[in-house]
Amino acid sequence: MKATFPHFGYDTYALKTFVEDLGAEVVLGPPASKRTVELGVEHSPELICMPFKITLGNLIEAMEQGADTLLMAAGARKCRFGYYHYLQEQALARLGMRYKLVPVAQYSPYAFVFQLIPSVFHVSPVRVVRAIAIMLEKSLLTQEFRVLLNRKRAVDFREAERLKKPALEMVEQARSVKAIRRARRGLDRMFSCNGSAAPGHNGRKPGLAVGLVGEIYMMIEQFANQEIEKELGRLGVEVLFERSLHHHLLHLLRLDRSYFRSQRLARRYLRECPGGEAMRTVGESIHFVERKKVDGLVHIFPFTCMPENIALEALQQLSEDSGVPVLSLSFDEHTSRTGLLTRLEAFVDLLKRKKRVQGSSRN
Ligand code: SF4
Repeated sequence: MKATFPHFGYDTYALKTFVEDLGAEVVLGPPASKRTVELGVEHSPELICMPFKITLGNLIEAMEQGADTLLMAAGARKCRFGYYHYLQEQALARLGMRYKLVPVAQYSPYAFVFQLIPSVFHVSPVRVVRAIAIMLEKSLLTQEFRVLLNRKRAVDFREAERLKKPALEMVEQARSVKAIRRARRGLDRMFSCNGSAAPGHNGRKPGLAVGLVGEIYMMIEQFANQEIEKELGRLGVEVLFERSLHHHLLHLLRLDRSYFRSQRLARRYLRECPGGEAMRTVGESIHFVERKKVDGLVHIFPFTCMPENIALEALQQLSEDSGVPVLSLSFDEHTSRTGLLTRLEAFVDLLKRKKRVQGSSRN
């Protein structure tokens, strides 16, 4: 079996380790690029959301490299996500390639551990549980890496970018719980050594912090969001986030406290769940504003995403109530990079001005 799955930001490493631990060879396509998007767009329904197009492009590129078993996340999020694997299978069938698409339903841990994964990979549930435990640990590592990288970028952008490649190699190579813990210590050392720009240890704090919220794929796949965390870091802003594969896995195991907190907080603005991840977006935003005291919120989502468009209304109300500025950015294949950077710069200028005014009125 040559298994593949769509890229998922830094968490691709955790997913790859999971599939390899189940005994399969992993054949990933190249990291997403302009060609990936073009392939996806060419074979997708016109108005489908962007994650569908990019993940379809990923699958096609992996098949070109020899992958024959396609693992695609599936499940009901009361939105188009529930139909992704079905529509992608139809699109791939039209290409006339030989493959097997496995919809990886996530929302029943029991069925996942005892039925789905053992039947696809011909392994025992015990092996599945062991692979999940390692994936949980590794996804925590990728999440921590992202936190360290974002902090470092805000205080020393060039050094952060220099450290990124060796740090990612360390993450990729950690394939056991012991190795992951060793990599964690290595990352801590790496991002806090050299006597420069150690996050939180050397007195140089980033000037501004924003909370990044939005649809999960856009939050995690850095190509899809045009590396927004990097661009904000370049402007001296520390990006806080909560959405990650690790939190998603904990949520699927019913162990994610932040999920329950978000659901509770979001009810101030959304009485009903409008589908997708809107409740989480709103709940996280309230948490960032009230507990983390962020200077601003950046909300990212695919252009045609109905749940996030509803969340957008709630965030505007939150902004009015709290005085914390919100920048909402929708993405599709036509999103201009120049336009995005201009909007980020203008937003960061606004936050800086606001902070200066607040500072001088306190003195
Ligand atoms: S949450 Fe939005 S972007 Fe994501 S699958 Fe659902 S409709 Fe599409």
